[in-house]
Parts: sequence; structure tokens; C-alpha cells
Amino acid sequence: MLRDIFEKRMGKGPDFSRLKRGVNAEGDNDARNLPEIPDNMWKKCNFCGKPILTADVKENLYRCPKCGGYFRVHAYRRVEILCDEGSFQEWDKEMPFVNPLDFPGYKAKVDVTKEKFKLDEAVISGECLINGERTALCICDGRFIMSSMGHNVGEKITRAIEKATEMRLPIVIYCCSGGARMQEGIISLMQMAKTSEALKRHHDAGLLYISVLTNPTTGGVTASFAMLGDVILAEPKALIGFAGPRVIEQTIRQKLPEGFQRSEFLLKHGFVDAIVKREDQREVISEIIRLHDKDLIEKSMKTFGRVSDLDEAEISADGAVNAAGAEEKASGKTESTAWQRVLISRDPKRPTAKDYMDLIFDDFIELHGDRCFGDDGAVIGGLAYFHGLPVTVIAQQKGKNTKDNILRNFGMPLPEGYRKALRLMKQADDFRRPIICLIDTPGAYPGMESEERGQGEAIARCLYEMSGVKVPVVSLVVGEGGSGGALALAVSNEVWMLENAIYSILSPEGFASILYKDSKKAPEAAEVMKITAADLKKLNVIEKIIREDEPASSENIHEIAKLIDEELSDFLARYKDKTPDDIARERYDRFRSF
Ligand SMILES: [Zn+2]
Repeated sequence: MLRDIFEKRMGKGPDFSRLKRGVNAEGDNDARNLPEIPDNMWKKCNFCGKPILTADVKENLYRCPKCGGYFRVHAYRRVEILCDEGSFQEWDKEMPFVNPLDFPGYKAKVDVTKEKFKLDEAVISGECLINGERTALCICDGRFIMSSMGHNVGEKITRAIEKATEMRLPIVIYCCSGGARMQEGIISLMQMAKTSEALKRHHDAGLLYISVLTNPTTGGVTASFAMLGDVILAEPKALIGFAGPRVIEQTIRQKLPEGFQRSEFLLKHGFVDAIVKREDQREVISEIIRLHDKDLIEKSMKTFGRVSDLDEAEISADGAVNAAGAEEKASGKTESTAWQRVLISRDPKRPTAKDYMDLIFDDFIELHGDRCFGDDGAVIGGLAYFHGLPVTVIAQQKGKNTKDNILRNFGMPLPEGYRKALRLMKQADDFRRPIICLIDTPGAYPGMESEERGQGEAIARCLYEMSGVKVPVVSLVVGEGGSGGALALAVSNEVWMLENAIYSILSPEGFASILYKDSKKAPEAAEVMKITAADLKKLNVIEKIIREDEPASSENIHEIAKLIDEELSDFLARYKDKTPDDIARERYDRFRSF
């Protein structure tokens, strides 16, 4: 309505080009020169420069209605956006002022800031419900001296973490900071250690911490609580970095590239699990909390005893292979040769791991990055539900076309892919979620960058750490199980294969060129190598074969996914009463027997 009035009076819309600079959505209003229009109604967007109406900005969750740019949000506005109505109960609302260095003029500055923004400090804390999930919550407010971290900010956050630990609550922290509070000197620095220590205790108590990075999250806050989330989310295009761009440019005298230190840059470099739009945060955060709810996990695990109607004998004796054998005879299907299966397993039209994931699991939330170097497209991992049970799913993913294959590196993981997988497995272990791995790789990527970043170390670390995981782990080879690159996700309680999948020490071509000095003898090599599901079942390398009446394709993937679904249900039913120690010991014994 205001827009209508405005346009009637002014025609096209205000000309803001004469204004020197834009403002934040709720910052001081630079549009005050415009006659007849209420001062606080029109703003100039500081991303696109277009005139925007404050009411529209609020309606649009404090984003520019024209360009979608993200404005900073005041702490209490965030509460309104995020929390269930009326559920936020604030903790430590007022803190006594401290001035550890007796810094001249500091008290006056804080007093003026308090008065101006009606805010006691640069962070608020409390407990709330987010879509019904109870959690502790801290929200930094960028207006308050750049949300710099002084004693009171550190103290409020630390108290909130300690209280969450005591109350056994998860904690969500919306980070925003220009860095340390200069006026508090070294005492400000100590807040980094204090908050990190409290988070370590919260983590050791088995509780979840979700950190949300907003524009800007820089300095000491990134080098402490901001980067310590079990799950780290970011708002689009937020500036996130230890040394701010101005500091870097002044120090090394180099111009930084476009997009440097933005959320998307951090995602690519492995430091952010996901970028979540503002309108989705409530849903995503509450889902992540639910997927880490140990009571829910325990309760839904118990129900797996009732899912399967399959005959006991069929399960315990030979699993699906009996059924496969029986049907094969009945249908008169002829047995494929090993080499034929090699070709089938590599068929570019064969369904990928993600195709099965989409059919078997619900509400998958992908988590990215190894928190060290990058995010590998050849490995997909994250959280999902399997018949209501929270699980961790990790898959090696091939592409469907050339462009996709480049993104997925043809299903050949880099060290950061294995480190991401391992990070997600450890998280699953901490929160008692079963782990399901889908394997489909020609092998770990053999390239210079792999060696530089320690491919061998990354795979070895997976084998080492997986052996100690105390939740049930099952791996299914859906296509190619190439060597160490496949084994890195297969130190599991059970390993299964689709009927036409292969699992081998190296490719038949490689084997033939080493032993027969002729890679063309690959078909012969395939026969002697014992790489088919049936051969590996006889060698006890795998427990189960999931039958493919016809080679898997988009035509029959639903049937195959249903078989996998039934087998997974049975697997979980068999593991529901086992103790964590037994689960790890059985896995040890499984591999000890070779
Ligand atoms: Zn804009």
C-alpha cells in the first residue's frame, strides 16, 4: 500500500544515485532528504542500489526484495524468525559493565551503544523451541560495536554453553563478529580460549553444537566458537575469515579475488557443511537437531525388529543369494561371465549411488567438506531417515554425463573425500547413528594432488578409525569396488554387493598387464581374480548378494531398492540389541579372520 501511495506521488520511484552510500535494512536512514515520505519507509539497498521499502524488507526476512541481498538481522528479530512463538527465554539479559584495562571513554561508548540499540551487549542468549526442538541459543548482534568479543560476550556465550551442558541441551550459535573488542585488550583474547573450552566439555558430554555463520564472521570468533560446530552452516555470501580482507590486502599488498572468504568459498574449501537460505534455517536447524536426538535414535532402532516378514531360514542361511539362485533356475537366466559383469558394473547407464539413496532414504541433508582442504564431489555424505531412524549415509558417486563426471571426478575420491567420510562417520559414532556406505569407484584418484595431500594416509585413517566405530556399519557395493579406494568405506560389520557389482584388488586390465604383460587379457584376468559377488560370497569377503533379475537400470531400480531396503531393515533388526562394544568387536573379528 505504501508503495502505491509512493508511486502515485513520486512517479517512478526515488532517485537514490545522489546518496553517497547505502545502509543496512534497519540502519540509519539515508533517505531523509526525500520530502513527504515517512523517513524510515524507503531505503536504498546497499547491494543493488535500488530503492526498497522497509516493510517489504521485513516481510522478506531482511533480504532485499529486488536483488535478494542479505541484510544483517538484529538479535531479537532473529529470535522472531527462528524460534517458536513465545518460546525464547532469555538468560543473563543484563551483565555488569567491565573495563579490564580501564580504557578511557569505553564506558561512555558502551552506554551510548546500549541506549541506541536497546541492547545490553553484542550477544543475547537463552533457551527456546525451534519447530518444537528444545535448544540453547546465542545470537550475536552486529550493531553493537561490530559484535566484537569482549568479556561480556565471551561470558554470556560460555555461560550458555555451560548451562546447555548441565541441562543436556544442544546449542545453536548465530555468529557475527568484527573480531576482538580492542578496548578490552588481552582479556578479549582470553574469551577465545574460554568459549572453546566450554564447547569441548559440551561436546564431551555427547551434545550437539550447530554454528551458523552470518555476515561478517571474522577475527577471533572464527578462531574459536564459530568454527567448532559439529555442524557448521552459513548464510549465503557471508564474509567469513580469520584475517579480514583489508588486513590481508594491506599486509601482502595483493588484491583479493571476487568471492574470496565468502560462504561459497568456504564451502568449496571444506569448512562449511551447508549454505542455508534464511527462509530454510528454521526447518534445517530443527531437522539437524532431530537427527542428532539420541533418544529418538534409540527408540526408532528398537522398532526394527518388526519390519521384516522374511523367513528366518532365508535370512540366516544365505540371505538373498538363495532366492537369487532359485529364481535364476526358474527363469532359465544364464550366468554372466566375470568379464561381462565387469562391463555391466561400469556401464554409464547403471544407476549411481545417489539414485539408490533417493529411493531408500528420506529427507537427506548433505553435509560438505573435510574441514581441512576441500569438498570432494566423488563422495557424498550426510544425514537422513531410514523408516524414521536417523542414519548417516556416505556414498561414492559417479556422474551421469561429462559435466557431472567432472564434478564427481569420475567417482574417484581425493584424500578430502575420505577425510569427509571419516568426519561424518565419527559424528555418527558420537550420536549413535548407524552408518550406511554405498560403494562405486574405479579406485581412489591416482594423481599428483592426491599424493600431495596424502591419499595413502587418508585411506589408512579410514580403515583405522572405522574399526573402532561402535555403531552398526554396513557397506553395499553398487557398481565398481575398486581396491583400497573402495575398502576405505568398507571396514564394516557387513559388506554386501549387488549381483553385477565387482570388488577387486585392482582392475582386470591392471592385473593382466602385471601378470600377463598384456592388458588385453583383462577378460581372462577377470575370471581368475574372483571379483564377482558370487565368488566373493564363497570367499566370505561379503555377507550378502542383492539380486538383479536384469542388470540394474532405471527400469528396475525400484525393485532393487526395495530389496536393499528389506535387507537394511533386517540388518538393523539384527543389531538393535547389540552393545556398542560387541558391535566394534564383531567388526574386528570379521577382518581378523582373513
Ligand atoms: Zn538489492
